[in-house]
Amino acid sequence: MPEIAFSVDQSRSMADQNVPGHNRWHPDIPAAASVRPGAEFRMECREWTDGQIGNNDSANDVRDVDLTKAHMLSGPIAIEGAEPGDLLVVDILDLGPVPQESGVAPGQGWGYTGIFARENGGGFLVEQFPDAYKAIWDFHGQQATSRHIPGVRFTGITHPGLMGTAPSAELLAKWNARERALIAKDPQRIPPLALPPEPSNVLAGTLSGSALAAVAAEGARTVPARENGGNHDIKNLTRGSRIYYPVHVAGALLSGGDLHFSQGDGEITFCGAIEMGGFMDLGVDLIKGGMETYGVTTNPIFEPGNVEPRYSEFLTFVGISVDHENNSNAYLDATLAYQRACLNAIAYLSKFGYSPEQVYLLLGAAPVEGRISGVVDIPNACCSLYIPTAIFDFDIRPSQSGPAVKEYASCARTS
Ligand code: ZN
Repeated sequence: MPEIAFSVDQSRSMADQNVPGHNRWHPDIPAAASVRPGAEFRMECREWTDGQIGNNDSANDVRDVDLTKAHMLSGPIAIEGAEPGDLLVVDILDLGPVPQESGVAPGQGWGYTGIFARENGGGFLVEQFPDAYKAIWDFHGQQATSRHIPGVRFTGITHPGLMGTAPSAELLAKWNARERALIAKDPQRIPPLALPPEPSNVLAGTLSGSALAAVAAEGARTVPARENGGNHDIKNLTRGSRIYYPVHVAGALLSGGDLHFSQGDGEITFCGAIEMGGFMDLGVDLIKGGMETYGVTTNPIFEPGNVEPRYSEFLTFVGISVDHENNSNAYLDATLAYQRACLNAIAYLSKFGYSPEQVYLLLGAAPVEGRISGVVDIPNACCSLYIPTAIFDFDIRPSQSGPAVKEYASCARTS
């Protein structure tokens, strides 16, 4: 096991760790540790809400979650000699839930998937699913099952939802300007178009006083992906991946967290992955001046890992950029097309006895493949959703005899 560069005691909040992590992006958040290029180290992580969600049968905690605490990131780790313009090479050597522990914190033998309520986050299908729901998943080695979604079992493709380098002051100012301009287009919208800096529950490592106040006033929220990496939620960024991050500040200041035991493409329920705390073993190196040399300036590039579940047979659902309820057409709208593919899958799998919410949760968590299939055939974009048939303990394919309908226990609901 490599040396622990960032340690977490899962019985304590991130704010109460020996060296706390952070939940905003800002160049002034001090490094928690420093390593040399070529180093390998372990980063331990809290689950992204800092343990607000419980292993129980109520979705009230998902409905009421305090999102100003998110995402709880470990780091930053300074890489000696890194300068703006370099590429930071990050190898994901290993990754998993909290080893050898069972307990109340997500990642201690279990994880969860949540559908977020419209008033608190929302999800990809918020129009059809405005309320909060939850599924708890139990880990069996590399596989997951859920008492809230019986009849399925699958191998997880573990990955960090979120990892990135610190922004420079100039880059942070650009983010805040463009996101404020977007919010101004419809400031009252629920869910909001974007999230501005939010002073409550700001955590910035060991900073306090006026330095902490500056992070509270300017620090970027961690929800989106941006030029530093950030919340990509790319399920294939798994063990064995090598990522090349743009470096914007001296030392690069690498942070990460939001570990996922598994996730479907799109992470559609917002909290759609199987969320957990755990650990990442990382290796780092530098390509000096690599941003200019390779033209990698606005986003990272990466080589996907080669450790992932092997599913070879799928049932695929197609969606097009049409609102079928109102018979209206959007122009090459891939977002709408993927929503329709998901809704088609939900309508189909509900015929087997699942509630629509159970299928929605499953599509967020299971290793389903989302594809942008066509974006040129006017007026309809076409997206497709590939569901591995082997994750079900029954046959989901259409047949003359019809679906084998069962009665399933419910997912967790609000009261
Ligand atoms: Zn996540």
